[in-house]
Amino acid sequence: MTDTYPETHLIIRGTEINYLFICPTKLWYFAKGITMEQESEYVDLGKFLHEKSYFGEEKDVKIGMISIDFIKKGDIIEVHEVKKGKSMEKAHEMQALYYLYYLKKLGINAKAILNYPKLRETKEITLEGREKEVEKAIGEVEQIKSLSVPPKPVKTKKCKKCAYYELCWV
Ligand code: SF4
Repeated sequence: MTDTYPETHLIIRGTEINYLFICPTKLWYFAKGITMEQESEYVDLGKFLHEKSYFGEEKDVKIGMISIDFIKKGDIIEVHEVKKGKSMEKAHEMQALYYLYYLKKLGINAKAILNYPKLRETKEITLEGREKEVEKAIGEVEQIKSLSVPPKPVKTKKCKKCAYYELCWV
């Protein structure tokens, strides 16, 4: 396959899939290009990525619309994402699945590893049997992005650390 963007609907970013599982309102703001001060998780990630434990890997790999923390090449390509904690585990997992789905459409078979360095834990993720889940998430992201106003915010404990707090609640 020669086309970098194999299917027109694969023009969404991994972060958008991630935000779908955190908060639809947050996804809408992000997708519309409304950016606030970076959240602390991203600052910490930069630090983790430059720690010795990840030294020597290919970092911040951009392939079309996706941006992978780092990749290991072996018998099968490993896509690694580094995360701070597990409170958003479903969002992390769906983001990783989207990467695997995207790569598969480009003819690349891979597996994903979620790295939680603070917890000294890893989680392996494969796409097998989960493509429909990814396609459903892609459809939901597209539907939210097509809205002319943000989805009504719902207050949860995630709001406290959210960069869009002031937009929703002040
Ligand atoms: S403050 Fe809460 S409702 Fe608003 S975007 Fe953030 S998580 Fe969503």
